[in-house]
Amino acid sequence: MKFLKIVVASILILIILGYGLLQVINSRSFQFFGEIINKVDTDKKVVALTFDDGPTNKTDDILKILHEKNIKATFFLTGKEIEENFEEAKKIFNAGHEIGNHTYSHQRMVFKSPSFVKDEIEKTDKLIRKTGYSGEILFRPPNGKKLLLLPKYLADNDRKSILWDIEPETDPEIGADSEKIVQYVNDHVENGSIILLHVMYDSRQESLESVEGIINELTEQGYEFKTVSELLKYEEANN
Ligand SMILES: [Zn+2]
Repeated sequence: MKFLKIVVASILILIILGYGLLQVINSRSFQFFGEIINKVDTDKKVVALTFDDGPTNKTDDILKILHEKNIKATFFLTGKEIEENFEEAKKIFNAGHEIGNHTYSHQRMVFKSPSFVKDEIEKTDKLIRKTGYSGEILFRPPNGKKLLLLPKYLADNDRKSILWDIEPETDPEIGADSEKIVQYVNDHVENGSIILLHVMYDSRQESLESVEGIINELTEQGYEFKTVSELLKYEEANN
């Protein structure tokens, strides 16, 4: 009986620890090392549009919208896709957008060796530099997941992890309808928000179609669009 109690108690403790670990892996505002940013603290009406993954053959579509609206955004690209679609990556750079590092192969950066993490990030940095991009390269972990080694590497190398505070696509019902995406962003936006969208794949056509509406609605509300690096300066100005 006593043995059984110990077993049950041990299992409970493991479940609680496991749950806590999962919270840390997925948290958008906490990690063990280094700086993690999901929005910027400012009283100015400024926001950042960020696009994850790619580049793909959808690049022209999104660049066209941003060009028409005269807005600069931040693209978190994967090294593998830059390699496969190098001309598309160059177009993003030539259009004056910010390029961030989203790892080479877009795997969950959890329980990976230090050399794997280092390689994933540095290989991608090199490819980003090859486009001609010379600004600071911000980092965003795939699926927002990270635990010890990735944050440790980023902290050791003085790199910031950029997450987001607005992710309209997470609710499948919203993600499947461009008007609902616009409405969601419109309802949830705050000063300093970082908006996450995926526009590089056919499955995210509604997201691509929401971009113009998001820009129109937020501009109407008085917001200005900044790259993430520009947005970060507003926080620094506050301190
Ligand atoms: Zn991604």
